Amino acid sequence: MELAKHYPVSVRFLEEMPFNGGSKTFQKITWDYKKILEHIREAHPDFYKLESPSTSTSINYKIPGHMGTFGVIPSFSRTFCGTCNRLRVSATGDVITCLYAKPSANLRDIMRSENAKSKVEEQILKAVGSRAKTGFEAQEKYRDVFSNSMTSIGG
Ligand code: SF4
Repeated sequence: MELAKHYPVSVRFLEEMPFNGGSKTFQKITWDYKKILEHIREAHPDFYKLESPSTSTSINYKIPGHMGTFGVIPSFSRTFCGTCNRLRVSATGDVITCLYAKPSANLRDIMRSENAKSKVEEQILKAVGSRAKTGFEAQEKYRDVFSNSMTSIGG
């Protein structure tokens, strides 16, 4: 918050997430977005909510007198799945449409083949067309996803 006070930056806080590769017994989180906001409110009771783009993954706020802003990302509570337009392609070509899902396609071999452009387009459209509606639905489908490390999908 001190950074946002003195500089025109947006400081964003992420909820705890069970993606460290060693949280197989993970059940619930302590620092969800409500607790993060309550904690900030103790020191800054007059912050107010800002308008954010519809596909923003953070809920954004401003404290009067601060040069910058702050945001909270409810990545575990998943309050913004309805407007999510994210798509991840890993260094090994895996296509992952949701943080809580397994790869639904792999582009590496396709990219090295003939007519790569149309085949890549086809695979991406297929992956997006079959994506889970929410992170909860994806988690239900891929129950062991928490055994992955967040570093393997880049967040
Ligand atoms: S659909 Fe998945 S990646 Fe998108 S906001 Fe929800 S949990 Fe996050």
